[in-house]
Amino acid sequence: MKLSHIEHIGIAVKSLETAIPLYENLLGLKCYAVEEVVDQKVKTAFFKIGETKIELLESTDPEGPIGKFLEKRGEGVHHIAFATAEPLQNSLNELAENGVQLIDKSPRKGAEGLNIAFLHPKSTGGILTELCENPDKSNL
Ligand code: ZN
Repeated sequence: MKLSHIEHIGIAVKSLETAIPLYENLLGLKCYAVEEVVDQKVKTAFFKIGETKIELLESTDPEGPIGKFLEKRGEGVHHIAFATAEPLQNSLNELAENGVQLIDKSPRKGAEGLNIAFLHPKSTGGILTELCENPDKSNL
């Protein structure tokens, strides 16, 4: 598998209204995008540090993945996302062959027009791991 960089770190927050100014103050950066991902039952807010983003995640449904996470664990780091330097499906096939448990066996649409797939925390030392493919990148 070929990865290029850490694409983003996903952080679960109770409220973007509170968290955006907190992170703007903390990082000295402006939030550059807010996007709802209906599929995931979240509203996301993005900051960029070099090639890496911070993705704040607010739940839009207590039964959604972030809603359940907040209920169980409270606010904090939710997942780490790596950018692939090859077609995402190739990475997923290779991981599956190596016995890594996948949540998504094939890529689906994530925020910011990326194709994404999650790996199961059981196979990643307890850290929910996401792989991202930028369909606009010519290096794929
Ligand atoms: Zn993510």
